[in-house]
Amino acid sequence: SGKKGDISREKSAELYAKAQQYFPGGVNSPVRAFKSVYGTPLFIERGDGCFLWDADGNKFIDFCCSWGPLILGHNHPKIREKVSKALEKGLSFGAPTALENELAELILKNNKCIEKIRFVSSGTEAVMSAIRLARGYTGRDKIIKFEGCYHGHSDSLLVKAGSGLVTFGETSSAGVPQSFADETIVIPLDDTKAVETAFAQFDGQIAAIIIEGVPANNGLLIQEPAYIQFLRDITRKHRALLIFDEVITGFRLGFEGAAAYYGIQPDIITYGKIIGGGMPVGAYGASSELMGHISPDGGVYQAGTLSGNPVAMAAGIAQLSELKSSSFYKSLHTKSNEFVEAIRRYTAAKNYKLKLFSVGSIFWFAFTDKEQIRAASDIDHHSMEYYKAFHRELLNRGIYFGPSGYEVGFVSAAHTKVELEKAKRAIFESLDEVFRH
Ligand code: PMP
Repeated sequence: SGKKGDISREKSAELYAKAQQYFPGGVNSPVRAFKSVYGTPLFIERGDGCFLWDADGNKFIDFCCSWGPLILGHNHPKIREKVSKALEKGLSFGAPTALENELAELILKNNKCIEKIRFVSSGTEAVMSAIRLARGYTGRDKIIKFEGCYHGHSDSLLVKAGSGLVTFGETSSAGVPQSFADETIVIPLDDTKAVETAFAQFDGQIAAIIIEGVPANNGLLIQEPAYIQFLRDITRKHRALLIFDEVITGFRLGFEGAAAYYGIQPDIITYGKIIGGGMPVGAYGASSELMGHISPDGGVYQAGTLSGNPVAMAAGIAQLSELKSSSFYKSLHTKSNEFVEAIRRYTAAKNYKLKLFSVGSIFWFAFTDKEQIRAASDIDHHSMEYYKAFHRELLNRGIYFGPSGYEVGFVSAAHTKVELEKAKRAIFESLDEVFRH
């Protein structure tokens, strides 16, 4: 224990220098840039189970899990096998395949909330299409989103958003026409009044409310079930739709995600991450009636050259097949709870200014004294300085988390008791260092 030297980042630094010549910020997605934590980004060489290896040969226990998709860990043999079989037959046909049916059946036969689904290639696309469907179906233009919720990078959703936007301190993107942003009503989470006011002010103009299953892109902002029920009730009352963005929570909180977790039926659900087993897949689903408005059945257009890609479908089928048993989530959640509780006990005993918020296998380190954080504005931005120091100490002890204090961690089925025990000790030591001063 005690102070640890910094890990070697020679190879990563070399690769990063090149990458900076090729890509803005040296990366193909902003949060990867380590801009708000210490040092250059680590370039990853490979992953296996709960482990990651970087280009310098450093080995880490991974709690980022590719930002959520890898609920079975890296390089799962069943996924690899199914993907390899698909690969042998060709990479893309731009025509229907049986694999799409197979993944759709796996989802729809085990889900009470949606009757039809459409596969796309990312979470962004899924949400963008769901919003278009809501607008097309209701004939209304405005949508309500919540401050801090991230729903991908389509124009109308890059207003007061979480993820990389909050990490870099610019929560609304440049390049979004004011006229688009005007159609997005942004209100704080956990605030019933603000929703009522919006419906009163824009009577008959609101197509939908969109909310993350559990907001997890601006810290983990766990909402009270009564609030979600309120959103369900008020959307029904005003004939607006309720969209659950389950890109993170879908197949994470359980096979039926946040909808089943709350016991609330949304009108449209979006998926991403886990549904593709690590390949680029997203999806949106709803009742047959609603989905009947999607082209070619209906007038809401949405398409994709690589949509339902056979290799990506194969990965999704292999992963979701493993998740279907009810014991899967039970054991994952038990394991996660024990892990999180042990860290809670430690920080409480030491009186550290740190809370762990968690739901299922999702958890978030909040450097705060507050017992609850339900809205983005409850987070003190200065607390991110603690995360920066913590992240460095963790890397030096072989523990990998996303390079932003606004992002959550994930426990996967590949995290064994032994590794979680090691991770706990490294987390305790790291916290001791962070709070030494
Ligand atoms: N919605 C939510 C809730 C997300 O967390 C994300 C990505 N983190 C997205 C949408 C966008 O997904 P993608 O990055 O695959 O486009």
